[in-house]
Amino acid sequence: MDSPPYSFHKQNNMVYLKLCLILFMGCVPDTTNLCSNQFLATPTIIPYRLDPSHITSPFQTLSLDGYLSFDNNHHTAKDFGNIYHFQPSAVLYPKSVSDISCIIKLIFEMGSGSELTVAARGHGHSLQGQAQAHRGIVISMESLKGSPKMQVHIGKLPYVDVSGGELWINILHETLKHGLAPKSWTDYLHLTVGGTLSNAGISGQAFRHGPQINNVYQLEVVTAMIAGKGDIITCSVKKNADLFYAVLGGLGQFGIITKARISLQSAPKMVKWIRVLYSDFSLFSKDQELLISSANSFDYIEGFVIINRTGLLNSWRSSFNPKDPIQASQFSSDGKTLYCLEMAKYYNPEETDVMDQRTEILLSGLQYIPSTLFTSEVSFVNFLDRVHLSERKLREKGLWDVPHPWINLLIPKSKIHEFAEEVFGNILTDNINGPILMYPVNKTKWNNNTSLVTPDEDVFYLVAFLSSVVPSSAGTDGFDKILTLNRRILQYSATANLGIKQYLPHYRTQGEWRAHFGSRWKVFLQRKSSYDPLAILAPGQRIFKKAAPIL
Ligand code: FAD
Repeated sequence: MDSPPYSFHKQNNMVYLKLCLILFMGCVPDTTNLCSNQFLATPTIIPYRLDPSHITSPFQTLSLDGYLSFDNNHHTAKDFGNIYHFQPSAVLYPKSVSDISCIIKLIFEMGSGSELTVAARGHGHSLQGQAQAHRGIVISMESLKGSPKMQVHIGKLPYVDVSGGELWINILHETLKHGLAPKSWTDYLHLTVGGTLSNAGISGQAFRHGPQINNVYQLEVVTAMIAGKGDIITCSVKKNADLFYAVLGGLGQFGIITKARISLQSAPKMVKWIRVLYSDFSLFSKDQELLISSANSFDYIEGFVIINRTGLLNSWRSSFNPKDPIQASQFSSDGKTLYCLEMAKYYNPEETDVMDQRTEILLSGLQYIPSTLFTSEVSFVNFLDRVHLSERKLREKGLWDVPHPWINLLIPKSKIHEFAEEVFGNILTDNINGPILMYPVNKTKWNNNTSLVTPDEDVFYLVAFLSSVVPSSAGTDGFDKILTLNRRILQYSATANLGIKQYLPHYRTQGEWRAHFGSRWKVFLQRKSSYDPLAILAPGQRIFKKAAPIL
């Protein structure tokens, strides 16, 4: 680890003074309320400088294995969304779980008179400042990576023990050394365990295995409880089950995940990756629903919408081979909206023939446009890490660090046609400068005790509008135009009474949060008052405000 400008090792007086200072500043009422619920129209940096005249504090015995940094923390006021930018007072780079517990204990002891909050930051790939803490302390969870060292346990129910700050891509590489891999993924693997488990972790395997939060055996969590402030608690379905379920999908509200035990299965070497097109939405969704309900289906099922009024966009098939090149070359979309069903079958090289036969059988039951069958054979790692390839290309063009006003919705199966008709037929008249993902999952495979809120039906769809803003564009790929479309989609979703829930939710008022949680709000509130009664944790979610009563 590089030495930071101000590093804090045990008994460093200089830093002690600075810490005193921020803790004191944390007690000063924030009259500007910069953490307000306002949606910022343009990316903004909100600076926060310490005033050295306020040096006083009872915090003389702080002792850390890692260090606190007070300067050059701008990167923690930024996330993948690149829309909200809140400066913290300090960043903790923990080297042990006790560093995290120590900080939380200190802040807890300041009581509700202090506005100092704590945000765990995973890989900072949130979209609306969820891992930021205005004037608070950000904990850089990645510096806990490898502490403890990842440990794979083989056996009947294999699992891996990892740090909460570990990246999923590293877990993939480590578990593959044992021929194993986690069962459920996200589309992009450069995210931390703590970050995705605080939401859900949904991808094309979730129809079968549930999201990542359903594939965890045990967690270690640092809470901000009254009884044991800063306590390090191990929890599972059998032990401290309420905390276990609270933290999974809990938006960082109930504790900081420092370790996780993740279930594993045998890993294949290869993946047959298939894409087919539909111009009829009913056939597309019918086939997706058929596939997710079949016992012997594909291993991964997703899909996306291609809104294209001007001709055929070919990027959907760029690295794929057509089954029938002549037919494929004659296909034209005529400017219609198209729906791409994406499937994958895992296999090992020696099973290629059997896999091909099974795939043929599965495909023969589908009603896609025959000339649009495209396939590709890739390694398991390249398949799972596919978005990273796009990341590299976008980075080269300077298009990765642009604002990303994304919306993710969970929509009940019974309402998906109504939603598609209005949104793809009326609201969106052109592509959104990013993919629109769309695929169903089975709620029966999901555990309903976690904090995650989903629609009230056995099958629901994830629909994700993943726009990228082209800086300084005034066109359809400009910030304002995308925001206007997003507002229309969200407004329609809220008022059409379709039972839609936001995934990676973002709201402005507590009333909206109550509506989001519905009948689950009472439990969410109870858990908040049990595990973080002063509302110290994850202020960037903007559900609770520190020092305000939890109602
Ligand atoms: P951060 O953004 O750092 O944190 C997210 C939240 O969790 C914050 O509130 C933070 O305080 C809290 N938190 C972080 N670490 C901890 C911890 N250890 N303990 C407690 N709380 C913690 N999501 C999907 O489900 N499926 C996808 O396919 C998918 N693809 C994505 C692709 C890209 C390119 C991006 C940018 C995001 C994608 N996401 C997807 C969303 C992603 O899962 C969430 O944004 C996730 O929170 C990001 O993880 P992170 O490590 O960057 O977390």
